[in-house]
Amino acid sequence: MRYAILSDIHGNLEGLNTVLEHANSKGVDRYVCGGDVVGYNANPKECMDIVRGLDMPCVMGNHDEYIGEDCDLSAFNPIAQEAVVWCRNQLSEEDRQWLRDLRYVRLVDHFSIVHSTMDSPRYWGYVQDANDAAANFTYQSTNLCFHGHTHVPQMFIDDGVDIHHGSFIEPLKLQIGNRYFINVGSVGQPRDGDPRAAYCIYDSEVETVELFRLEYDIETTKAKIREAGLPERLAERLDYGK
Ligand code: ZN
Repeated sequence: MRYAILSDIHGNLEGLNTVLEHANSKGVDRYVCGGDVVGYNANPKECMDIVRGLDMPCVMGNHDEYIGEDCDLSAFNPIAQEAVVWCRNQLSEEDRQWLRDLRYVRLVDHFSIVHSTMDSPRYWGYVQDANDAAANFTYQSTNLCFHGHTHVPQMFIDDGVDIHHGSFIEPLKLQIGNRYFINVGSVGQPRDGDPRAAYCIYDSEVETVELFRLEYDIETTKAKIREAGLPERLAERLDYGK
């Protein structure tokens, strides 16, 4: 079975369509979503409809929560606040209910997905180094778990002695006895300095995980952000992948 694992789509329709087309050409059987379907970019509704239409198992991201719930936004910076309010207004009550109904952790066949980290999935902790990953592994009950949230593709491997932290240089071959916590990066707003959309394919037959980076029509995504009156910074950052 070939799974495409997508995360942090963030309302970027051009990025999402490019990823889906690529995944389809790679013979993917099933699509899985690591959360943050909405927020930041200008097509939240369209992206949600695609995720639902493909029946993707999906977990709750922090933006899905902020936009689905009526939570207080006073602690947010003004740019984030403005984007959340704009996005809430684009969605129907039924759309927002769908967001509220997302679970924090899900089992998909034999692996799990979480947006942030298994040790505090409701508090949106960031896993950036081996120490953070150690806390996750304490609560990770499957050998393989995918996540997103930092928008930086990377992998953490627990070999039973140490936790190794690495980036994707070539496809990762999963070894029996190891546990893996893999960040698939972001479709809609990469932050590792590479503006191309990111996603992973997990092939459970040969036990490999491969990261793909794809150029997409950033200019259209930026134009839509400006047209919607969303903060300019949200358009600019797409060019830098930051
Ligand atoms: Zn995100």
